[in-house]
Amino acid sequence: MIPFDPQEVAQRIMNQPTNQLTGSMTPTTTKPNWGTSSKESSLTPDGTPRKGNLAKPLKPSRFGIKPQGLEGDKDCDVDGFGSAITHLASTANEIPEPMSAKIPSKTAQKKPYMTLSEFKQNAPTAATKTPEKKATHQSKFVEKYKNIPRNSSGYIAKPPTILDTHPFRFLVYNQNITVEAFKKYILMAYKGLLYATNCLKTPSDRAVESRRIELAPKTVEKRNQKTLILDLDETLVHLCDMREKSDVTLQATSDRGDVVNLPIRLRPHVQEFLEKMSKMFEVIVFTAGQDYYANAVIDYLDPDATMVSEVLCRDRCMETRNGFIIKDLRVIGNRDLKDMIIIDNLSHSFGVQIENGFPILEFREDKADVELKHLMGYLQEVAACDDVRTFNKDRLKLAELAKMNEAQLFG
Ligand SMILES: [Mg+2]
Repeated sequence: MIPFDPQEVAQRIMNQPTNQLTGSMTPTTTKPNWGTSSKESSLTPDGTPRKGNLAKPLKPSRFGIKPQGLEGDKDCDVDGFGSAITHLASTANEIPEPMSAKIPSKTAQKKPYMTLSEFKQNAPTAATKTPEKKATHQSKFVEKYKNIPRNSSGYIAKPPTILDTHPFRFLVYNQNITVEAFKKYILMAYKGLLYATNCLKTPSDRAVESRRIELAPKTVEKRNQKTLILDLDETLVHLCDMREKSDVTLQATSDRGDVVNLPIRLRPHVQEFLEKMSKMFEVIVFTAGQDYYANAVIDYLDPDATMVSEVLCRDRCMETRNGFIIKDLRVIGNRDLKDMIIIDNLSHSFGVQIENGFPILEFREDKADVELKHLMGYLQEVAACDDVRTFNKDRLKLAELAKMNEAQLFG
């Protein structure tokens, strides 16, 4: 069993019963404890530290910047976190089936509207004994539905669906997304936000300090730019299991010294996205994956190291007692929260700073995915705003999403 699997984490956030994420449980059971509980003291009865309760020393960053505050972390639950890490790809056959709805291929997708002739053909055919009866019946059918809105081409539109009317539809750019996939996306974002709002306890300053990193000073040309923090798995790439066809297979040396294959799929437009965004932002990758995996992927995407300034990995994340990985932006010591935006497919990841986050639609296999392409437009505005938190809060309204219930979300 691998300690972190993005698919498994996504599945678990989806499996959380909503009524257990709305604060109805008592704090002792709902509040994940970042520190060491009284039942699980970090010290054994003889006063020596329990195995696995201390943070592993952090490795130097991609650009050789020394990590800060490494020793004696007793303030954050890191038990089993990093100590039993195994390689994702080597256990790829253990990764369960993707939980997301499969987005159909372009040819399988239906047209958003039906033509008038299609509409008439779809009319009930009970009265088809004579052409006259058929015509009469179709006329009545058209009359009955004449109030259905037409699109600009004059075609009769299908009745509006959740994709036409949902208040948070704008969070997904893919116009061909299925209702099923959209519902799963909204539910996952919603549950992650519910968890963050009602259950997640803000990590202590000490826990943050233990993972703190000082980034390299911004260059002169980037000194006024904001910091764009990108998740890796299901945001920029998808690490394939053995049943999936990859775009490229990378090789890396694991912490155990094994050379391992990393079959990955690249999200459409990822190169263009990184190139353009690196001109507007200081770009950082922040992943719950292991450093050798993340560095191999980023070295492939950015071989000249000109686009991504830093790669923050698992040892900069925090894990709640029930196993959710959190990316607390306060670990980045020398950047202001008002200047940071994080893009992640799992909204609970940025649950400590919801107003800094953008919950992107997850990517696994859709070659027609356009989320990164369109996200550039949003980020262009973010780059020019004063405070990312205010801008995001006004535009995305994630706090309002978290206040809804499932009936309001899906009607
Ligand atoms: Mg992810």
